[in-house]
Amino acid sequence: MLQAINVRKKYNTLEVLKGIDLTIEKSEIVSIVGSSGAGKSTLLHILGTLDNPDSGEVLFDGTSVSSLGRANLAKFRNRHIGFIFQFHNLLPEFTALENVCLPAYLAGRSEKETRVRARELLGMLNLERRADHKPSEMSGGEQQRTAVARALINSPEIIFADEPSGNLDSQNAHELHQIFFLLRKELGQTFVIVTHNDQLAEMADRTITMKDGHISE
Ligand code: ADP
Ligand code: ADP
Repeated sequence: MLQAINVRKKYNTLEVLKGIDLTIEKSEIVSIVGSSGAGKSTLLHILGTLDNPDSGEVLFDGTSVSSLGRANLAKFRNRHIGFIFQFHNLLPEFTALENVCLPAYLAGRSEKETRVRARELLGMLNLERRADHKPSEMSGGEQQRTAVARALINSPEIIFADEPSGNLDSQNAHELHQIFFLLRKELGQTFVIVTHNDQLAEMADRTITMKDGHISE
């Protein structure tokens, strides 16, 4: 599904990625670990088309992302890629349901269909009773699960998560990790997750360790 070929990235003279080769298969749950500053977020952003490599290529189903061009890339990203961050980034003025629907409206999908799908997703994530609540009226775990529903609304092929449980207590973190595996089982969802959580790294199908700009194991 996703392939990185000899991806390199420098910030000024700092070589953060020194030729990364990586393949992610459909329905895989891959974790990326490594010490702070090892280049995990940089790699995730490049794989997720949020950032460009200096050289090398990222291919989605064999198509080079760099061939898409700026305008098409934003469209491609919104339709095919979901993101979950450490902080949920939900819009405070909107309800859970509205937050989840937003990426679908941006993709030009119909309001009616979108709301039906958003309610289904909120149901799957045990949030049906929170649909009309604003983020400030939800617990940390519920906010992050709402962010998961938002990442799923356009049925992305792949979801990238950067420290998704980094801001949660261990109980809520565990619940969130269970949800990733539930979504893989129910939807065949693919995940690439940067994490410091040992439990999640152990549960993953594959764990990639970054060190000195390379994948060390
Ligand atoms: P990790 O996610 O493993 O902690 P990052 O990918 O965030 O690592 O960062 C890798 C290195 O690149 C760090 O030394 C960081 O300070 C540096 N870095 C990250 N982003 C930038 C940037 N936009 N400009 C300059 N240096 C950056
Ligand atoms: P958790 O321990 O899971 O983080 P909390 O103790 O924060 O949960 O919240 C317990 C319940 O109370 C949750 O279902 C949450 O939606 C609800 N809740 C928390 N804060 C608020 C609030 N400010 N307004 C309304 N409901 C809230």
